[in-house]
Amino acid sequence: MAVTAIRNWWNTYQLDKSDTSDSNTEEDGQELARRSLSKTLRTRQLLLDFDGGRPILTLRAPLDLVNFPPISCPRWPIECEVISDIIHHIEWNPPEPEPFYQPTGHEQTQMPAGEEQGKVVYCIDHATKCLYFTCSRAGGCRGPIKSATCGINQSDFTLEFESRFESGNLQKAVQVGVYDYELTLRTDMYTRKHTQWFYFRVRNMKAGVTYRFTIVNLMKSSSLYSQGMKPLLYSERAAKEKGVGWQRCGANIRYYRNCILFSFTWTLQFPYDSDTCYLAHCYPYTYSHLQRYLRCISSNPVVTSYCKLRVLCHSLAGNAVYIVTVTSQGGSRGEDRRKKAVVVTARVHPGETNGSWMMEGFLDFLLGDSEDAQLLRDTFVFKVVPMLNPDGVVVGNYRCSLAGRDLNRNYKTLLRDSFPCVWHTRNMVEKLMAERDVVLYCDFHGHNRKNNVFMYGCNSRGEASQKLHERIFPLMMSKNASNKFSFKSCKFQVQKSKEGTGRIAMWRLGIKNSYTMEATFGGSTLGNRKGTHFTTRDLKSLGFYFCDTLLDYCDPDRTKVSNKAACLANVHSSVNSLEH
Ligand SMILES: [Zn+2]
Repeated sequence: MAVTAIRNWWNTYQLDKSDTSDSNTEEDGQELARRSLSKTLRTRQLLLDFDGGRPILTLRAPLDLVNFPPISCPRWPIECEVISDIIHHIEWNPPEPEPFYQPTGHEQTQMPAGEEQGKVVYCIDHATKCLYFTCSRAGGCRGPIKSATCGINQSDFTLEFESRFESGNLQKAVQVGVYDYELTLRTDMYTRKHTQWFYFRVRNMKAGVTYRFTIVNLMKSSSLYSQGMKPLLYSERAAKEKGVGWQRCGANIRYYRNCILFSFTWTLQFPYDSDTCYLAHCYPYTYSHLQRYLRCISSNPVVTSYCKLRVLCHSLAGNAVYIVTVTSQGGSRGEDRRKKAVVVTARVHPGETNGSWMMEGFLDFLLGDSEDAQLLRDTFVFKVVPMLNPDGVVVGNYRCSLAGRDLNRNYKTLLRDSFPCVWHTRNMVEKLMAERDVVLYCDFHGHNRKNNVFMYGCNSRGEASQKLHERIFPLMMSKNASNKFSFKSCKFQVQKSKEGTGRIAMWRLGIKNSYTMEATFGGSTLGNRKGTHFTTRDLKSLGFYFCDTLLDYCDPDRTKVSNKAACLANVHSSVNSLEH
């Protein structure tokens, strides 16, 4: 039938052409034929070419289908030095929740001694070595990289630092006492700001002695390190011999103002002599980690029957920004068109690795074989962008892209080439809204000052019934994850200063349920988890609860939703009566 349709089209086209044959060149004629083909047959899947005037039809190759190379090699700015070691951490969860640090009142607050009174043992190029991003290369700069360690003596157990790997960001280490080190973090590339995230490697340690680390260039005036949060330690030997992964560590923890900026200090003992250890602000989640995960899901034929992986766009450095579309196939055209959409994104802020762990939990659930997952796929079309800022993640930034800007303040940009990741995301959402209803948008983040998980939403003015509507989903989340998610910490505002965020930009496009979900870097203050840190399992569970809540929210039996709406209205009227 298709062949007949094409033949009919060609014959009609030839007749039309001879009727109106004015002075068209051959190229014009071929271009007209192409346009006529897509218009008449209503398809862009057929490609038309000519061989000496004879038409040749071929099928268009699938758009940007992702083929992963055997070794994923992220692209770095050309001036960045990158070591060749492959870094891999096992995934592990502590058998018991890890408690917050309890201050003793004797924690020291020493002021930075600096290079004058210490010995520089590690130093890499500054984030502003080049003023702005110029070009990139897989694996970073060419040729052998220079030694960043100086004066290391294997016999005296001077620590050997390294951070020139994906998401690493230690700029400098100064030894100021036998076991005492002052650390400077590399600022976000091409900026002099945004230090908070840290991730680096240490070697040549001695077990059983107490080391002190003090990061001296933090920029925020408050931190969860003042509320009991501990940093993370990973020992390669513990992973190999005991199967133990990232663990909370440290004593004498204090976050305080130093002369110019803020310091974070802690002490710790390493478990083994001459081990390879890593220290981090939160469980690392690199671009390569995401690629391994996506490769794994795209190699499962069951999963690929309802999950399509594409490249949404490329970042400034040329790293692929992936988009995952999840929905069940096989429904009738009408059914498919009636499906509403849900948009979920993460890692616009590269230092907020907890966003990626929630995202992985969300995808695990959604792509799984449970009945609930099946129901979600039958009900919705999910558009998921798991890592919005791969360049920032690769270079170890906390907040910015390689444009030196916070992408989550640039969703309204018209500069596609400077902000490709958010421009294309917004464009994708606009197109999606033209074809179907988008019921919810959520961007996953990490939060550095508050415990628990919570959401920021917008605030519709106008009708009373609409007014509280955007609070229903977060309230339902808090019921489903009552020992982790705090409804009290949620805020519903449309602030002028936040106009460029994904949340407000999508809300302005017309998505009423437009949120950011913020997971703390610390832990919980709720229920049976009060006073304990979150693990990767906890963060992933938030992804499951998110799916669970979507099912409740869209349950055809509206009892749950109307119960929550009534409950909100009660709370609201009692708050109002208190205020007046
Ligand atoms: Zn954020």
